[in-house]
Amino acid sequence: MTNDAPTHNLTDLIHHAYKPPGNFDSPQPGVFKASTVYFPNVAAMRQREWKDKSGYTYGLHGTPTTYVLEERLCTLEGGLQCLLVPSGLAALALVALAVLKTGDEILLPDNAYGPNKALAEGELLALGIAHRFYDAMNPADLKAKLSPKTRLVWLEAPGSVTMEFPDLVALLNICKAHSVLAALDNTWGAGLAFQPFDLTGDGSCSIDISAHALTKYPSGGGDVLMGSVITRDAGLHLQIKMTHMRLGLGVAANDAETLLRALPSIGLRYQAQDRCARALARWWLAQKACVQVMHPALHDSPGHAHWQSLCAPDGGEGAAAGLFSVMLSPTLTQQQVDNFCDHLKLFKIGYSWGGPVSLVVPYSLTSMRAQWPEQLQQGYLVRFSTGLESPADLIADLHQSAQAWLAVEGVA
Ligand SMILES: *Cc1c(COP(=O)(O)O)cnc(C)c1O
Repeated sequence: MTNDAPTHNLTDLIHHAYKPPGNFDSPQPGVFKASTVYFPNVAAMRQREWKDKSGYTYGLHGTPTTYVLEERLCTLEGGLQCLLVPSGLAALALVALAVLKTGDEILLPDNAYGPNKALAEGELLALGIAHRFYDAMNPADLKAKLSPKTRLVWLEAPGSVTMEFPDLVALLNICKAHSVLAALDNTWGAGLAFQPFDLTGDGSCSIDISAHALTKYPSGGGDVLMGSVITRDAGLHLQIKMTHMRLGLGVAANDAETLLRALPSIGLRYQAQDRCARALARWWLAQKACVQVMHPALHDSPGHAHWQSLCAPDGGEGAAAGLFSVMLSPTLTQQQVDNFCDHLKLFKIGYSWGGPVSLVVPYSLTSMRAQWPEQLQQGYLVRFSTGLESPADLIADLHQSAQAWLAVEGVA
């Protein structure tokens, strides 16, 4: 790895404190499955405590396998307590249901992960919890939309699909000044691009809650759904934990095992997919069919300076997820854009990211946002996520389909 590689915590993640049962020592922790957990006697059953992890009481309340996974995710993200849920979306829902009640308000960035907005518009509204969307690129707008009823502010960096990178520190400071809980959807950063519980590196700026779709980078396989909710405050953790328990949320042992198997390579995968995405994004910059490339590490991308100060503070290459969007020229037709996506051979059409296979999705921005974001050109938005294929092969694939359907010329 170069000096720019995300190395913090990665060694700890692999050489993690774990005592195997019966002195059986090997690279991977054991996999324990249970609904029922036995107690030696009634007194032990009455006394045993699961909330502080001093014992085991029932499969839903944790097993040695889930405890290890929770601890390693805390190491990755710099948190102290972790809860596991069956998907990233369940992590977002758990946070909302645990900290909000009827009459409260929640603020979400207008470029938030779509299903989190849908949750606010659906279940939360039905529970009498109002929501407002703020412009993540304008901290003054967040400030203006806070009310005495605001209990929770979601943050996301960068924005979903449109990839604008907000000034997280400014947004967070506004939440702190108003004593409102700040929760970050940390799926893109994954604990690698920046430290969610220490944004400025001097211990002065921490989010309250980190929700992570483990489905993406921690899994890395495109085959597991899981989410986590990480905190550094014991009281806040307990509040979320009680809701987690009452909702009956848990994860399967085999899924936890898959995550434990994938975590040691997360740093390498993140870095490889980052490099590949930047190579592809730069290829697009040179194509006339493309009017804008949205990748926070590119100079002209919306919020690039905010990305730089958070994810490349030493002026180096920094770190970013293997994800970017392009705006294809409005002079094309939707049919041409769809044909281009259909005729890619290595890029599969599908949601999610962080797996071994590169993916492409054309998005309809008008159905996602109340108005066209002012920092974006008009056109057709296509999002790419890079897998682990050779960047040269991926560029050749982009080139062959763009040549056929987007009137792109020249050789790859
Ligand atoms: C994928 C994703 C989620 C949801 O994760 P699932 O496991 O698919 O439910 C939440 N937030 C972001 C930013 C995501 O990319």
